Amino acid sequence: MKAQLIKQFEKMGISKKVIDAFKKVSREEFVLPEWKEAAYEDSALPIIAGQTISQPSTVVLMLDALEAKGKVLEIGAGSGYNAALLSKLADKVYSIERIKELADFAKKNLKKAGIRNVTVIHSDGKKGYAKEAPYDRIIVTAAAEKIPDILLKQLKDGGVLLMPVGPEYGQQLIRVRRKGKDYLYEKLGGYVFVPLR
Ligand code: SAH
Repeated sequence: MKAQLIKQFEKMGISKKVIDAFKKVSREEFVLPEWKEAAYEDSALPIIAGQTISQPSTVVLMLDALEAKGKVLEIGAGSGYNAALLSKLADKVYSIERIKELADFAKKNLKKAGIRNVTVIHSDGKKGYAKEAPYDRIIVTAAAEKIPDILLKQLKDGGVLLMPVGPEYGQQLIRVRRKGKDYLYEKLGGYVFVPLR
């Protein structure tokens, strides 16, 4: 099952780096026990508090588009799965989660998986995380109508931010590259994410 997904990612043109990260992390450790059998189907799965662990193909596409490296800020820890993959591609990951039970769930899953370079913070990600700013990369795994200005300010010069932007029923994945005072925007295609609250 995992092998099938990997084949699919290769066909999609996902980079070897990201596929290697995917190979290193067990998705079944980040889903609820009743969903373990479905861990390697290419679908989003319910976690707790009405939230979802994102679809594997979406996760790897985003990681490829992010060009993860250095110090990374993630908004929306959820299960901690995306943070676990990021931990294999970057030096240090800070992941913010608004729902306390999910922050605890992510921490527990990451610990079980033996991952040490991720810090999960229970807070509102719309404010970013000033304490460790600026970041080489920022990835938002929940959608909103607009990219919060604070997040753009917390991006390093030369940094990349990725976020799904648009209404609840469907968003465009937006990639922003900071070049000094300028921010260059690109649209990377349509997705549906849970909302940033
Ligand atoms: N990256 C996750 C899936 C993300 S689901 C994984 O790999 O499993 C989106 C998450 O964003 C949810 O857990 C939701 O609670 C969280 N979220 C929504 N609004 C938020 C906010 N303002 N600050 C931090 N987290 C938020």
